[in-house]
Amino acid sequence: MDPDKSSFTILGAGRSGIAAAALLKKKGFKVFLSEEYPEEKLKYFRKDILTDEKIEFETDGHSEKIFENDVFIVSPGISPESEVIKKAAALGKKIYSEIEIAFRFCKCPVIAITGTNGKTTTAVLTGEVFKNAGYDTKVCGNVGVAFSEIVNELSKDSIAVLEVSSFQLEYTEKFRPAVSVILNITPDHLDWHKNFNNYLNAKGRIRENQKQSDLSVINFDDKTLMDDLKNTDAVKAFFSVKEDLRDSEINKGCIGINGEVIYFDKNKNVNEVIMKTSEINIRGNHNLYNSLAAVISARAFDIKKEIIRDTLISFKGVEHRIEFVRELNGAKYYNDSKATNIDSMLVALETFDKNVILILGGREKGNDYSAADKLITEKVKLVIAIGETGKKITDHFSGKVKCESAQTMEDAVRISFENAAAGDNVLLSPACKSFDMFDSYEHRGAEFKKFVNKL
Ligand code: ADP
Repeated sequence: MDPDKSSFTILGAGRSGIAAAALLKKKGFKVFLSEEYPEEKLKYFRKDILTDEKIEFETDGHSEKIFENDVFIVSPGISPESEVIKKAAALGKKIYSEIEIAFRFCKCPVIAITGTNGKTTTAVLTGEVFKNAGYDTKVCGNVGVAFSEIVNELSKDSIAVLEVSSFQLEYTEKFRPAVSVILNITPDHLDWHKNFNNYLNAKGRIRENQKQSDLSVINFDDKTLMDDLKNTDAVKAFFSVKEDLRDSEINKGCIGINGEVIYFDKNKNVNEVIMKTSEINIRGNHNLYNSLAAVISARAFDIKKEIIRDTLISFKGVEHRIEFVRELNGAKYYNDSKATNIDSMLVALETFDKNVILILGGREKGNDYSAADKLITEKVKLVIAIGETGKKITDHFSGKVKCESAQTMEDAVRISFENAAAGDNVLLSPACKSFDMFDSYEHRGAEFKKFVNKL
């Protein structure tokens, strides 16, 4: 890109928008940042960065000035159906996401990870493996730091592990990771993408520009993904916890079956047991999938199996995702505040045998709790209902399992403590959004941990 030829309008003053604006300004481009909401409504508004970098910006609405530049960088929050995007497209403006821009300045290989669920866990875990192998590694994207924020710190020998959402992939053009990972796909974000096919296609864009020297990593057990393997020249590798892929025509992959994690590459005559599945520290079948994906990315860079194994043994998972908090009087307390829908809550519940005290509830639109009937009656001895939807929860589950209601998180933790016996697992996995009582799921999880640690 040439500063004399391209000028940029950045829509959305979130973390990635501000980072992209700062990056482009530093590179000498003409930049204008425009934000729909007033400053006081913004969660992350780094006016200091905009001022320091002398970036022109406006808040509280988009003016016509946005159309003076020829490239638009859109925040993931802005729908393709919005009037401004439609108008920009009609005017022939290029529309990119922030990762496309950062990628243009990236000197090192990118490992890009997408999927409906498990992105953060897999990205952080993969980053740990590379760090432990001695790479200068940056984990970025949807995980805290934006790609544009750190791209200048990367040298050609670094590794960027990038968590990417379907929104960011929708607006890429040249984005080409060395390794792309698609973990799984289930219907999600359909309000943004309009339909499932658009969502699937957006995810598929992660490998669209990949070449034969690149690697595309795919979940073999996800039928939807397997039915849609086209659109890449990359070498493919697959992971499965159900089938021994070594017996198929697949050349490269990682399996987690019969209690072992096995990596194979038929072209190189590699067939190695990395470790026992039981040695993996993060709980549950879903995390076995995430681990297998990380193994393949690591082996793509010839990282030794001992390093991979040691990392998987020591990796404690990411905060707020079935995060172990403490043990008290023989009962264990877990924070799974990230579970903002029923599916995620069921994934967590699946990882426990029984004796669960479940803190459930918050804000939701039309949760169908009967989907949880089977697991809850099997594994849960007490439901503690919280938040706006608390009454709906107690109405649904009373008669099936013992229920209590709590007005505050402190109350919920107290009730859990009073009912917890040795061997029980107290699990905050609310299956709801947090905004009725908290600023975010992180805030909710932090409050839970605070009260658990005070017990
Ligand atoms: P994301 O970044 O995609 O939201 P996270 O790693 O933050 O994913 O995990 C969020 C939740 O998704 C977890 O708490 C768990 O309930 C569920 N989850 C994680 N990994 C997987 C997976 N591989 N398959 C299905 N569900 C998963």
